[in-house]
Amino acid sequence: MADYRDMWKDLGMDLETHDQLCEVLPMAFTDVYLSQKNRPENMGYYDFVVSEIHGVRPAELVEAQKKGTKVFGTFCIYVPDEVVFAADAIPTGLCGGSQFWVPGGEKVLPTNTCPLIKASVGARLDKTCPFFRIADMYIGETTCDGKKKAWEILGEDVPMHVMDLPQMKRRKDYKAWAEEIKELKGTIEEFTGNKVDSEKLSKSIKLINDKRRALARLNATRKNKNIPISGKDSLLISQIAFYDDPTRFTEMTNTLCDELDKRVEEGVSVFEEGTKRILLAGTPLAIPNWKIHNVVETSGGAVVCEEMCTGTRYFENLVDESKDNLDDQIDALADRYMNINCACFTPNEARIDDIKRLCKEYNVDGVIDVNLKFCNLYDTEGFLVERELKKAGIPVLGIETDYTDSDVQQLRTRIGAFIEMLEK
Ligand code: SF4
Ligand code: SF4
Repeated sequence: MADYRDMWKDLGMDLETHDQLCEVLPMAFTDVYLSQKNRPENMGYYDFVVSEIHGVRPAELVEAQKKGTKVFGTFCIYVPDEVVFAADAIPTGLCGGSQFWVPGGEKVLPTNTCPLIKASVGARLDKTCPFFRIADMYIGETTCDGKKKAWEILGEDVPMHVMDLPQMKRRKDYKAWAEEIKELKGTIEEFTGNKVDSEKLSKSIKLINDKRRALARLNATRKNKNIPISGKDSLLISQIAFYDDPTRFTEMTNTLCDELDKRVEEGVSVFEEGTKRILLAGTPLAIPNWKIHNVVETSGGAVVCEEMCTGTRYFENLVDESKDNLDDQIDALADRYMNINCACFTPNEARIDDIKRLCKEYNVDGVIDVNLKFCNLYDTEGFLVERELKKAGIPVLGIETDYTDSDVQQLRTRIGAFIEMLEK
């Protein structure tokens, strides 16, 4: 990685502790990613982005800030990036996916909080992630209790706007979410000094839809009998989508898709014939959480789809691009975002329908329902998900995990046995 120490110092980071993270991450990446065979050539771009994860994109954001652009940090896929871009500002995903940040979060949060929240709080308070330092304002949401309370703690350290996400999907809830989006627009306009108009919003709706289309195209290639890209690589791309420049990301992903389409035509697969096709459902896998994909794909399985926020929930469904006034555009945004099926909603049968549909589309042999430890929402919903999948004749394995490596061996045994069972 090039030398970004001056930038990190200017961001008020704890350089000594950050050095420890910089030492372990490349090793983990080499073990999990660079050891794969027959990777698509165009993965080179994403490898580069990860190798410079705390350098290249943060430097771009700092440059933009010097020109007066504000950066907003977000934690959930319900927060509409379109509104941020329409105010000539930049959103960046901030979800923490490393155990490295968890102890920092545990200093202020109960231990029995999900690792994603603990890592996100730790990354900010321990000053060991440039993205968490750069963001001028954070945008939180009321999706789960752990997050709601974490915003109060983070809000003492950084300006914070919290969106009140309804937890049911009645007509009035859609209206309430549209109101929340309007309120967010007002906050962003005030903070940036830039007005959002219908023309700008129209452009940013198209910008983010294009990113979704590229991700949908990429994922469509995984539906083929010959799978042209590993689940690990697809996950990495989804994770990078949260913070990369969207125009560049879309372009690079479409270039990769051209290569993948060619591979499909030529019958190239990164897996041996007959490898069992696995769908992962459940809680998000924030960067650099590659554990489950790595275990599955080194235990004789292929991950072909993620029903997760770092997967289909992020890119499925587009915002209607035909609206030409602010009110209608905001309603269109509310409609698209409210159609995401997160376990924070009740009832949430549509999520189970999604999983069953995806199993058909991706020709799945079995589902692994992944729950991040202490996520009560997905854990509880797991009962219904697993029962309904079994009823539909889809084999399913429920697992709970965190960011440590202490359960890898146990996961390997359970996932290995599950895949073996699918082979019989
Ligand atoms: S799991 Fe739910 S709360 Fe968490 S990022 Fe996804 S949509 Fe947001
Ligand atoms: S994984 Fe569960 S507990 Fe953790 S932030 Fe998401 S919804 Fe909340």
